[in-house]
Amino acid sequence: MTDRRESPIEITKDEFKRIGYQLIETISHFIDTIDEKPVTSGETPKQIQAVLGNASLPEHGTSVSELFSKTSDLLLNHSLLNGHPKFFGYITSSPAPIGALSDLLAAAVNANVGANILSPMATAIEKQTVKWLAEFIGVAPTYGGILVSGGNMANLTAFLAARTAKSPKSMKEDGIVNTHGEMVFYCSKATHTWIEKAAVLFGHGSKAIRWIPTDAENKMNTEILLQTINDDLKSGKKPFLVIGNAGDVSTGVVDNLSAIAAICKAQDLWFHIDGAYGIPAAVIPKYKNLFDGIKEADSIALDPHKWLYAPLEAGCMLVKNPQHLIDTYSSHPVYYNFSNQDDEPTVNYYEYGFQNSRGFRALKVWMALQQVGKNGYIEMIGEDIALSQLLFEEAKKHSELEAVTQNLSITTFRYVPIGFTQVEKKKEIYLNTLNEKLLNELQEGGEVFLSNAVVADKYCLRCCIVNFRTSRKDIFEIVGLIVHEGRKIHETLQRK
Ligand SMILES: *Cc1c(COP(=O)(O)O)cnc(C)c1O
Repeated sequence: MTDRRESPIEITKDEFKRIGYQLIETISHFIDTIDEKPVTSGETPKQIQAVLGNASLPEHGTSVSELFSKTSDLLLNHSLLNGHPKFFGYITSSPAPIGALSDLLAAAVNANVGANILSPMATAIEKQTVKWLAEFIGVAPTYGGILVSGGNMANLTAFLAARTAKSPKSMKEDGIVNTHGEMVFYCSKATHTWIEKAAVLFGHGSKAIRWIPTDAENKMNTEILLQTINDDLKSGKKPFLVIGNAGDVSTGVVDNLSAIAAICKAQDLWFHIDGAYGIPAAVIPKYKNLFDGIKEADSIALDPHKWLYAPLEAGCMLVKNPQHLIDTYSSHPVYYNFSNQDDEPTVNYYEYGFQNSRGFRALKVWMALQQVGKNGYIEMIGEDIALSQLLFEEAKKHSELEAVTQNLSITTFRYVPIGFTQVEKKKEIYLNTLNEKLLNELQEGGEVFLSNAVVADKYCLRCCIVNFRTSRKDIFEIVGLIVHEGRKIHETLQRK
């Protein structure tokens, strides 16, 4: 092409190729050797700041290749590597390499998946991704939905759809203050913090949350749920939504979903499942019945950036009847001319959720689903669970470890010194201090990354495996590491 406008941000074809190949070279080496690096550099924010420097906004441009070589060093050598086989913190997965390549392709095309006319192929691919995800977890492929940034957004998107569906039509104009009766909603006390954000964001206030206690297995107590709903009805409140957890964020417990579904059906309440972490395990025949009741859900949140190993960000909100999304999120300003293909119904995703312009985050999910197929995921998710169970068994066998919980791919456990004699209450306080210090030491050490959970007042180490790179060898090695570090901290604490 000739007569092109010269612009400082354009990169010539040859330069793009040269820098691109170099970057791919760097990234492929990074992935290939990730297990030889520490999980984290362990630098403090001050040290990180010093590496980054304090330059002010550049007045003039810099060479692109120089920028990439500098920035590759910053990121590859000063980050926490959740793609490392010994990363088990929170619920962040090793990112599938195909996701990185897919993001590059998606950004190059830059489809705006807010409206079909702006993204004909990308919209079709996102629709297919949603359909495949529904099939994957075993609900009807007629469920619709939308890709969002993560679990929080998936849950928030569902929350507002639930409220719209269960309140008078006038609510959209009059707002909740002018709608009759205080609206209330129910979830177990193991529910993720998104529910508090929802209560604030949508104007209900946190007092509208009914925190239902959990039973001995840490599942929502459905008898108390029913009792609480009845009490609320008697006092004139308007119950509208119950949230079940399919893998609670802390210990991975799946609520009794079919019991919750039955209550919702009988009381005409919206049944939402927060399956951000755990619901992909429903793909495994052996665990399928753990999720009985998901087919009854009005909406489901799941996070491809957790157990489907998509790089951040990719969440998904599924809904049994997509019309509820349109009822909630659609409006037709005069400046939108998106209806010229009305005879062929399609999806304009801006009508399905909060975002207007939308990136093509579906692509990386769609690509990985095809790279490995359902069977590839059955294998990887199954292995993650087996490794978590192995850790639990190893902790149980070890005389200095106490195995506490094991659900899906999350194991909690703690270090307990041998021959440790202190009276009960003091002992628990000591063990909590010891294990908290232990976790901090381990995190800073960079050999393994765990997070924590508090289970029945016990401060536990928590290992969540959503990591296709972890092997049995890693599990045996981290047991050794944790015990070694635990002994050292116990000794120091005793000397004080
Ligand atoms: C991770 C998680 C969330 C939050 O998801 P993000 O992707 O971090 O926004 C919500 N609920 C559960 C059960 C989760 O595991």
